[in-house]
Amino acid sequence: MLDTLPLELIEHITRFVGEPGLLNLRQTNRHLHRQTFEAFGKAFFSVVHLSFCIGTFPRLQAIAEDENLRVFVRELRVGEDICSYEGCRDLLPYNHPLGVGYHWPREQSGCLDTTASAVSSSEFPFLSSPSAATNIMPLFRHLLASRLTNCRSLLLSDGCGNRPQQVGSTSILSNTDAVHLLLLAGAGLPVTSFRIEFRRVGAILLGRELPRRVIDSPAFVASWETSLTELRLGCQLEQDEEQLLSVAADLVRRAKALRRLHLQLRLSFAASDFLRRLAAAPEPPPPLTHLDMSSMRGVTPAALSAFLRRFGDTLQYLHMDYIELEGAGPSATTWPSVFAECRRHLSRLECFTVWALPQGPRAQQWLFDPILKWDGVPDSGNLEFSVRMVGERYWVNGVRYKGQAGAAMQKFLLGLEECAYCPDPQIGPARAEGYERANCPDEVQIAGRLRATRIKSKKFHPILDPLSVGFK
Ligand SMILES: [Zn+2]
Repeated sequence: MLDTLPLELIEHITRFVGEPGLLNLRQTNRHLHRQTFEAFGKAFFSVVHLSFCIGTFPRLQAIAEDENLRVFVRELRVGEDICSYEGCRDLLPYNHPLGVGYHWPREQSGCLDTTASAVSSSEFPFLSSPSAATNIMPLFRHLLASRLTNCRSLLLSDGCGNRPQQVGSTSILSNTDAVHLLLLAGAGLPVTSFRIEFRRVGAILLGRELPRRVIDSPAFVASWETSLTELRLGCQLEQDEEQLLSVAADLVRRAKALRRLHLQLRLSFAASDFLRRLAAAPEPPPPLTHLDMSSMRGVTPAALSAFLRRFGDTLQYLHMDYIELEGAGPSATTWPSVFAECRRHLSRLECFTVWALPQGPRAQQWLFDPILKWDGVPDSGNLEFSVRMVGERYWVNGVRYKGQAGAAMQKFLLGLEECAYCPDPQIGPARAEGYERANCPDEVQIAGRLRATRIKSKKFHPILDPLSVGFK
């Protein structure tokens, strides 16, 4: 195939990308053009950015309608920030909302009217580009279903900018509208990965704008149940948003083929409630192998343990950071009890990470220094730790162990159970460990067996980069 592509096709590609490097390559010989087609296709078209605006949508459409390029598209990334940096800088003001330039029909409730057909441009003379003033939803669905047939990974993100959350209208999409659109477009298709990355507080208003009938529709349920293997919910869930909580819980519970689940709840206080809903589901749990959880507040040890136990037969990778446990006083249940639960129930675990785990009224972080001297450590595997400075001393606040499932992991978890302590006197007995600033080791040989390496705190974010799943 590579030998038969005409030079015209390469030139055709450069019209879509406009990257300086690619333009430079146009100056070189034909042979190189041919040889690099596949690589360029993968480099430039495996991820396509979209803001549903008149800058980025025509580009998506052009790629989708190109017989040679459409097959490279694996992932669609939807977000407003994306748009500020490419695609439509020449057409629209910097950092514009989603959906600008098209017509978005609405129901009385404010939800997108996804049953509406295309609207003629003459009805919307106020739009700068009359030819674009149409309802593109039917076209978008068609492109995803029939043209971008390798694109089965969908990501939504909001900006982290200063502009407030946009409310959807007939000329602008809210973030939730974008969720709505993607869920709907993906219904009936084998979408394998769905990720929501909303950093703004309140960026997701699912309860108000996403009609339940979308996630209750048979086509959606069928494809979600059988195809979805990765789900990320990066958003805030609050207790007064009952419908949002129930929609979010259903999105997880219905994904029966799910292997990787990422919950980043943006310091949600409703995290415990959310976990309880998931743990209480009557249906069998999805066969999760990877779970990462972060940024939760007010979690009860009971809710957390009950949730983790559900994946006891399958879970290989568990990551927990900034999960604030509720409770104080001598009778409070604490992190060691959660570690004990993991030791008893998660028999397949191969990689376990804890980092920055606060508890109690003052949100003091649990510390793990004694494990670096603990003589019960396993004989094999890798241990990593991170430190934080408090006062003039360094304290171990994060630990990651990778090793064999079974005896080795159980030994490590037992160590964590015995060695973890909280510097808050309301929670546990005082222990003074830590390292002087000058003496904080980069490497420790524990009990002559296991080598532990100090790494930077930021490396304690989940190892698993969901972006690498499936196509890199
Ligand atoms: Zn745009």
